[in-house]
Amino acid sequence: MPVTDQAFVTLATNDAYSQGALVVGKCLRRHGTSRQTVVMVTSHVSQGARAALARVFHQVKEVEVLDSSDWARLIMMGRPELGVTLTKLHCWALTEYSKCVFLDADVLVLCNVDELFDRQEFSAAPDPGWPDCFNSGVFVFRPSLQTHNQLLQWARERGSFDGGDQGLLNSFFSGWATEDISKHLPFIYNLSTSAVYTYLPAFQQYGPEAKIVHFLGAIKPWHCKYDRQKEEVYLGDGSTFHRHLYPFMKQWWTEYWQPVAPSFTQTYTWEDPE
Ligand code: UDP
Ligand code: MN
Repeated sequence: MPVTDQAFVTLATNDAYSQGALVVGKCLRRHGTSRQTVVMVTSHVSQGARAALARVFHQVKEVEVLDSSDWARLIMMGRPELGVTLTKLHCWALTEYSKCVFLDADVLVLCNVDELFDRQEFSAAPDPGWPDCFNSGVFVFRPSLQTHNQLLQWARERGSFDGGDQGLLNSFFSGWATEDISKHLPFIYNLSTSAVYTYLPAFQQYGPEAKIVHFLGAIKPWHCKYDRQKEEVYLGDGSTFHRHLYPFMKQWWTEYWQPVAPSFTQTYTWEDPE
């Protein structure tokens, strides 16, 4: 039975991230989610991208860009593009839903993860770089205009210690680390690909149980080249991936080119990403 008051939510502020969002939506539907799917887009997302997203998501919702412009902090992290991630905060304004799961556009959903809706706000998995912080690529939340206003006020008055959404959300939901273990999602719901470099034995041990893989960091699947004939993925500079990441990269591209199920659309025809 479809659940109409709960939704998976993602975000794309440009066409590149829209490719990621498209894969998020396709995977959710292919794995038979009973929840709604929503993609928030901003004014820079082209009509072509919106049309492709509209064939996959129940709702394509236009939101305002929110940008920290906190260049000093983001440059320190080497990720000046992340200021716009504050736009994510608009997900709290989706009050037509009583509970939602936010997914970054750079995740690959490997199976049905509807059980995430059993969790309460604010649930998230640890960040691999600083495990007392949560990673904001996958989280369970309850839309509320009050919380939305409080978050925007926080952004205006105190900013974010990393210049992006993750720093702000960690300061705002500061009890996460210690208060309630049920709000700690298992790492397999947000398996950062960086774990391959930081803890390879654990990745080998638990990686096969992964439910959501997160291509955290500067290199995203859509930055890579994909040879559809050979079904091979390459990095732009010709180098290859860590061999443990390669299957996920390849799967992302397989999902990307997967035709959208006929029950909700015609054939998928968005142009080849370059
Ligand atoms: N995002 C976006 N446009 C951008 C940067 C980020 O739409 O230019 C959104 C997108 O949903 C993305 C999320 O914000 O997945 C967080 O950014 P990213 O995944 O690049 O950060 P990371 O997970 O690598 O820290
Ligand atoms: Mn991400």
